[in-house]
Amino acid sequence: MDDNGKMSLTLKVLLGMGLGIALGLLFNLTGLNAKDSFVNVYLVNGLFHVVGTMFINALKMLVVPLVFFSLICGVCGIGDIRMLGRVGGKSFALYMLTTAIAIATAILIAAIAGIGKGMNLNLASDAADKFTAKEAPSLVQVLIDIIPTNPIRAMANGEMLPIIFFSILVGISMLLVGRKAKSFIEGAEIANEIMMKMVLIVMSVAPYAVFALIAKAISNLGLDLLASLAGYVLVLVTALMFHLFVTLMLTLKFFSGLNPLTFLKKIRNAQVFAFSTASSNATIPVTMRTVTERFGVNNSVASFTVPFGATINMDGTAIMQGVATVFIANVYNIDLGFTGYLTVILMSVLASIGTAGVPGVGLIMLSMVFTQVGLPIEGIGLILGVDRLMDMIRTAVNVSGDAAVSTIVAKSEDKLDIATYNDPEAGMVDVSEAIHIDEGVKAEMAQAIKQTHDK
Ligand code: ASP
Repeated sequence: MDDNGKMSLTLKVLLGMGLGIALGLLFNLTGLNAKDSFVNVYLVNGLFHVVGTMFINALKMLVVPLVFFSLICGVCGIGDIRMLGRVGGKSFALYMLTTAIAIATAILIAAIAGIGKGMNLNLASDAADKFTAKEAPSLVQVLIDIIPTNPIRAMANGEMLPIIFFSILVGISMLLVGRKAKSFIEGAEIANEIMMKMVLIVMSVAPYAVFALIAKAISNLGLDLLASLAGYVLVLVTALMFHLFVTLMLTLKFFSGLNPLTFLKKIRNAQVFAFSTASSNATIPVTMRTVTERFGVNNSVASFTVPFGATINMDGTAIMQGVATVFIANVYNIDLGFTGYLTVILMSVLASIGTAGVPGVGLIMLSMVFTQVGLPIEGIGLILGVDRLMDMIRTAVNVSGDAAVSTIVAKSEDKLDIATYNDPEAGMVDVSEAIHIDEGVKAEMAQAIKQTHDK
């Protein structure tokens, strides 16, 4: 609440989330959402579904133009191609490092807890056939596909790595063209600002959309499954929280010296968006805004590290894979041994590079890991029922990792405004003010249009 008694957007979104959880639980536990019931048809899969999906669409709509224009501005803003190389190298190394630590601790925690030991094997065969593995792209293919044969198609398909590659190249070429390209660069800067305004417009409806998304997700969850998989869920959530609050915060403190508590407070908005959409990609606009306006990371770093992280950095997903591997191996009484687990770590880290941050992709990566170490793929069917909820939580961790690494890299390149980072109010959104059109501006615009007409 601010001095004028107005609620901040974060508070409103959190309220929407809380109410969504409450209503979803009510529907789920009372059975009000039975198949063909009014609640299920018109509310959960009607109104909530429509509002929620429209909101996710709106977020996705922003991603490609936002990444394109902000990267061009970022590259032109740096003007130093060597720094670009350094930012790329550092963020890649940190993303891989944190993912590897994430999965290693997850395996350790799960092994100590001994989840899945002595579980009834029949359960697994019941679950068989419910999951059919989809192919994850091979690493060589991922490498080749970084260079798009058709940039427009890459944009149309939202393929992040080729979009990043093309945008950087456009920026570099603009620099090489020099003075003649000046108006183009200015245009890109204006376009970037316009996109950031659009982010605000979309964020302004978030409290309602988040309410709808969460109410639907919780209402549709198999809560009864939660109990039968309590061990798996508990260990997974513990490992996720450990990574978020301990590993990532220690990494932040160690590499940048910044205050982790400030980070945790300010990242909340992006986490809630990630939780409700279960997609790091769709959350890019919000992560980008949080990192630049709330943390003070310069756009020249954030424009690259955020979309890059959404694509290649998946700490939460890696943790799920570690816990799931131990769980399924125990259920089937398979001893993977030290090399088996090392393979799991390596495969998970590599798999995260080639797969985009969209809902449910973690399971595809998991099937790749299972194939590699010889665990039965149908075992994945066992954890399918709770995966939606786990996806929401791990995506929030994924996005936190992206923001932490962006901040560390910016600090190391002297591209972080420490005053902004330490200012609790910096970048807070007062939506009514942020999307208010000034009377004077309106008149000026009308005048400008009239002048062009008269010419
Ligand atoms: N939903 C996750 C993300 O977007 C990926 C996954 O774990 O399925 O980051």
